[in-house]
Amino acid sequence: MAIINKKEDGNSDKSSNLISESVQFICPICKSSKVLKISKSVIKQANSLTSVSIPSGLICKHSFQAFVDKQFKVRGYQKVDFEFDYNPNKVKQEIIHKFYKDNEELFKNLIIKGNNLNYNPNNSKEYKEPKQEKEEKHQQKKEMSLEEIYEEFWEFIDGDNLEFKEFIINDSRRH
Ligand SMILES: [Zn+2]
Repeated sequence: MAIINKKEDGNSDKSSNLISESVQFICPICKSSKVLKISKSVIKQANSLTSVSIPSGLICKHSFQAFVDKQFKVRGYQKVDFEFDYNPNKVKQEIIHKFYKDNEELFKNLIIKGNNLNYNPNNSKEYKEPKQEKEEKHQQKKEMSLEEIYEEFWEFIDGDNLEFKEFIINDSRRH
């Protein structure tokens, strides 16, 4: 039966110590060492020893495995003879670079304005306003009172417009 966070664990009452335990790992090849925090739940779930994989670059240039017992003591190490050279950032950059190379034409036709992206395949000068800006302008109009709208656009409003009838009648500029 596992009792988690039992007081008799002998740990200080720092909250971080309740969920993780500091364990010192020593590289079996070059003897470099580093204290790393291990989640207690991981250790408690294991039957006896927990194998911990240390990737190269974390403590030193070597990658190895450590075996930790339930008292958070390292019982042994195992060298890893071969580790695949996997750097997620490097891989990501290569994918992006390849994607850019493959789609160079597409990118040439993309116009980036703020956070909006427009596709302009014909390089035409008719640049369409990004949708978001349009919506913002639309909202601005909504927030304006009828009178304000009339004042701004009266020249474009027909004299027989019913919605602005009241303003049209009282507008000296029209008479
Ligand atoms: Zn090492």
